[in-house]
Amino acid sequence: MRSQDHDRLFLSPPHLGRHELNYVHKAIEDNWVAPVGPNITGFEADICQAAGVAHCVALSSGTAAIHLGLILLGVGPGDEVLCPSFTFVATANPIVYLGATPVFIDSEADTWNLCPERLREAITDRIARGKKPKALLLVHLYGMPARLPEILAIAAEYGLPILEDAAEALGSRLNGQPLGSFGTIGVFSFNGNKILTTSGGGALVTNDATLARKAHFLATQAKDEATHYQHSEVGYNYRLSNILAGIGRGQMELLEERVKRRREIFAWYQEHLAGLPGLTVAQAPEPPGSRSNRWLTTLLLNPAETAATPETLRLHLETRNIESRPLWKPMHLQPLFATAPMYGGAVCADLFGRGLCLPSGTAMTDADQRRVKEALAEALA
Ligand SMILES: *Cc1c(COP(=O)(O)O)cnc(C)c1O
Repeated sequence: MRSQDHDRLFLSPPHLGRHELNYVHKAIEDNWVAPVGPNITGFEADICQAAGVAHCVALSSGTAAIHLGLILLGVGPGDEVLCPSFTFVATANPIVYLGATPVFIDSEADTWNLCPERLREAITDRIARGKKPKALLLVHLYGMPARLPEILAIAAEYGLPILEDAAEALGSRLNGQPLGSFGTIGVFSFNGNKILTTSGGGALVTNDATLARKAHFLATQAKDEATHYQHSEVGYNYRLSNILAGIGRGQMELLEERVKRRREIFAWYQEHLAGLPGLTVAQAPEPPGSRSNRWLTTLLLNPAETAATPETLRLHLETRNIESRPLWKPMHLQPLFATAPMYGGAVCADLFGRGLCLPSGTAMTDADQRRVKEALAEALA
């Protein structure tokens, strides 16, 4: 991308380090190019260490990890799964793969994540209607920790297992504990736009050895213990290749550095955009104990103070060759989920209408950030 267009400032492009190629080179030299080998084992160990969990299964995508996670929690046809509306569609799609129904829940305004009060309302209403939800899919949007103490307490009260979609939150923490380690199962993504990337990839993490073994079994075509290709369950081909895991090992060495840099980029925007009329850098301040990886810096416009909209800003940035993106469009506003149950909705719909994601890639310079600031100032003038 960059070689074709040196001036283009992308939202969150891949940022490779010095060691990825060594791991890939070694894999090819040693003929380890199958979805098995030392890079996979090493990558999984790196993720376990970073996430503070006992077990990790490296997979072909975060979406695959969510799909397997839901299966492991027993989700099947006719079940209901609680899920925030304000997320990327990849959170919710695997619920549909399984013939289950997503029950969407609004955000709260500070973290933008699942609102605990709405969660309780949804659970009691679903139970009153005759069906207890099977699981809770929890998301940490743009890296910001959700209101975990309240949400964990509610989930425990109703005996609901949590599948933690930490696809955007690798390296984020709450009270020192890494996100992805709070649920029964956690999920990470190593897609090209995430804080670390394997070009495409994902991981399922858990402290439960039985669940981890089952995830590995399902991800490798669910082969029974027999040499003659015997199967008693439906399986999937979801394992990551040893080549891509090599990229992942090089990337995992950089996690702390990358989080530090994303946080610096966020702090720069927060300081330098402060004077612009009608604009605030969003998801700030962090609630006590929360440490976001600040995967993407986002802004909110105040319509009382500016006539600019996220789309007029985006189009103006585009004329300066700067990529920006709307916030995730809430699931309850998607044609795909028009008939799904929804609890609340005004909070995330309002955020979507006023928000924009800014270039936040770790390779960007202060000069790049000044370019973004100048373009925003022009658009707001
Ligand atoms: C990126 C993302 C996913 C999906 O991960 P892939 O590796 O792209 O399949 C799931 N949930 C959220 C919130 C994401 O941002």
